Amino acid sequence: MQNITIAIDGYSSTGKSTIAKQIAKELGYVFVDSGAMYRAVTLYALQKDFISIDAFKVDDFVKELPNIELGFVFNPNLGFSEIYLNGINVEKEIRTMEVSSFVSRVSEIPEVRRQLVYQQQNMRKLVGIVMDGRDIGTVVFPNAELKLFITASPEIRAQRRYKELTKRGDKVDFNEVLKNVQERDYVDSHRKDSPLLKAQDAIEIDNSTLTLEEQYKKIMYLVTMTLEAYE
Ligand code: C5P
Repeated sequence: MQNITIAIDGYSSTGKSTIAKQIAKELGYVFVDSGAMYRAVTLYALQKDFISIDAFKVDDFVKELPNIELGFVFNPNLGFSEIYLNGINVEKEIRTMEVSSFVSRVSEIPEVRRQLVYQQQNMRKLVGIVMDGRDIGTVVFPNAELKLFITASPEIRAQRRYKELTKRGDKVDFNEVLKNVQERDYVDSHRKDSPLLKAQDAIEIDNSTLTLEEQYKKIMYLVTMTLEAYE
């Protein structure tokens, strides 16, 4: 059976990575969380004081980009790959509210996007891949055989994110999480360089009222139909 490329785009906290992981596991494909790459670059900018609430030294940061090395290493216990920043596993550090509140600003920088898109396109090689993000079906893999666009209401997405953060012990305020979700939606959809858009040939799925199982069944049906079409 031919390997296909599955592009999953959509708003923040719609559960894109969860479904992408499930599909990749089922098909034996590689799963890539492109948001983790933007988050890791943001973590680096924070660690090295290029960005703070008061200032963003964009030019200095862009000069620093060649020193940022990202990699994914498969964790057999978890069943998916974790992101490494200059050799260090930063999977946990990139999911904080601090990184979430700066990541959309870092993702607006064209040089950052160019570098990450180049790395993402090189990941396809000969294997089947499921990648989730904001510009996968429009910019990274415009020829992907299956494109999904996932949505849900901002309140529901903020509730899911709030649960996730409190479960791992982070002290966060629900309204702060909701505000972050809405702000990221706005910046991601309005930036000049590759804004978040539904590709013309993407299938939209609103999962506001779907259980994980219902969503999985619905999407696996689309995956199976696509695989059959390309057999
Ligand atoms: O998917 P996640 O919410 O972890 O992504 C974090 C942020 O990274 C997004 O809000 C967006 O600003 C940026 N991003 C992007 N393009 C992608 C993936 C993520 O600009 N392909």
